[in-house]
Amino acid sequence: MFCPQCRTEYRSGFTRCADCHVALQPVLPAEPDNEPFPKLVGILDTNDNFVLGMAVAALDEAGIVYDIRPIPESERNFEGRLEPKWLISPSRIMVCTEDESEARLLVEPLQEPMPVEFLTEFEPDQS
Ligand SMILES: [Zn+2]
Repeated sequence: MFCPQCRTEYRSGFTRCADCHVALQPVLPAEPDNEPFPKLVGILDTNDNFVLGMAVAALDEAGIVYDIRPIPESERNFEGRLEPKWLISPSRIMVCTEDESEARLLVEPLQEPMPVEFLTEFEPDQS
């Protein structure tokens, strides 16, 4: 017997899923074609809370749904970047693939390393 919701297999004798409280079925329903959860893509990696806040605010304003996940140790690549002033553990902003291009445009200006003291003078990057 299987729970149609969490897809847990139960031994015979059980009729309801202990977690979902729904009736068990003898076979699992086929996976639906369209995934219940949209595919997510990472659009911004940052370990700077200021950048993260700016990105999230921009996404909120645009009505884009996002998720923030910790970046696994193996995928971290912050070499050569300025140590951010508001250091947080490396995080990745994820959005649905359909929102990717719009979201990327919004966070693109934030990808550049911010001058640590951006209120003081800084040279425009001419490279
Ligand atoms: Zn269940």
